[in-house]
Amino acid sequence: MSFSSRLEIDLDKIKYNAAKVVEVCHKHGIEVLGVTKGFSAIPQIVTAVLEGGVDGLADARMENIIELRHEGISAPITLLRIPRLSDVENVVKYSDVSINSEIAVIRALGETAKAMGFRHQIILMVDVGDLREGIMIENVLAAVRAIVKVDGISLLGLGTNMGCFGGILPEYANLNILVELAKLIKNRLGITLQILSGGGTSSLLLVEKGEIPAGINQLRIGEGMLLGTDTTNNRAIDWLKNDAFILKAEVIEAKLKPSVPRGNIGRDAFGNVPEFADIGIRKKAIVALGKQDVYIEGLIPLDNNVTILGASSDHMILDITDIERSVRVGDELAFGVTYSGLLSASQSRYIKKVFRKDNKWLN
Ligand SMILES: *Cc1c(COP(=O)(O)O)cnc(C)c1O
Repeated sequence: MSFSSRLEIDLDKIKYNAAKVVEVCHKHGIEVLGVTKGFSAIPQIVTAVLEGGVDGLADARMENIIELRHEGISAPITLLRIPRLSDVENVVKYSDVSINSEIAVIRALGETAKAMGFRHQIILMVDVGDLREGIMIENVLAAVRAIVKVDGISLLGLGTNMGCFGGILPEYANLNILVELAKLIKNRLGITLQILSGGGTSSLLLVEKGEIPAGINQLRIGEGMLLGTDTTNNRAIDWLKNDAFILKAEVIEAKLKPSVPRGNIGRDAFGNVPEFADIGIRKKAIVALGKQDVYIEGLIPLDNNVTILGASSDHMILDITDIERSVRVGDELAFGVTYSGLLSASQSRYIKKVFRKDNKWLN
């Protein structure tokens, strides 16, 4: 197959990042799950993450988890999206642990596990403020009482998620709610929980600053390990590599053109009315990459002098006036990716994935 663009993936950098995250977290008694959903669980990358020494894997998609098992990956895997009631059989069969917030689903998981002759482990998700998945704090004790009665289920611990829907920042106070709940469960019900899972990349900052509540002993890390960024806290993580993924696209037109279109303006290819400021004649480039290939807003030109002006389904238009070298048809332009850029690029069938390992290109 001919690919118009490619995603260059540096496995050494990903392994380095994974090892660094593991080192920092282990120092604080926190285990690390390497989250694979951000790159559609591409096996070569999963291997790099495992080589970095993570304690387990986690993914939000059953499809990815099943594929990982078929690839022969035997590391423990946590399912990170609360399971569909209609999918409990796969969940029990292929994942070791799932995160949950609905008692009906937990009962179905238990029934299925019991029928298969074993126990399925769950993390009960608690909503400490972000308003994505999880039961409300005041309902936790009652939920635990109900869960421990379900045959076929082991309650491994509590978890929470932040920085996703509500953009809520993890802090000592909201994470400590899990620790307090675990104490309450111990005191009232005599149950000792093994795991308190304190979130994803956005919780790393607290670990670095030594402000993570004692008792939080698991993080589920994707973005930080892959991209060296922490979108929720709006920062680059300076002790991690941030260029493990580079998207390259070929220039198919390079010309001087006006900055404002000529004629009466209707709608663009996606039904929007575009607006333009007149800054004179500019050097423009078109690359063979569009909305059908990748989420354009998730791309960052590596050259600061390049600006993305917009894209239609198959063409991305760039202002390259300020670029220092001369750019010609056939040249390549390089882009970094954000988390959403990586999500879309990794699963795009139009983008070739090439891997670098031990400082050599693999294909
Ligand atoms: C995606 C996800 C993570 C990983 O988040 P990152 O910001 O990529 O580290 C952790 N936990 C849950 C429940 C998730 O869905």
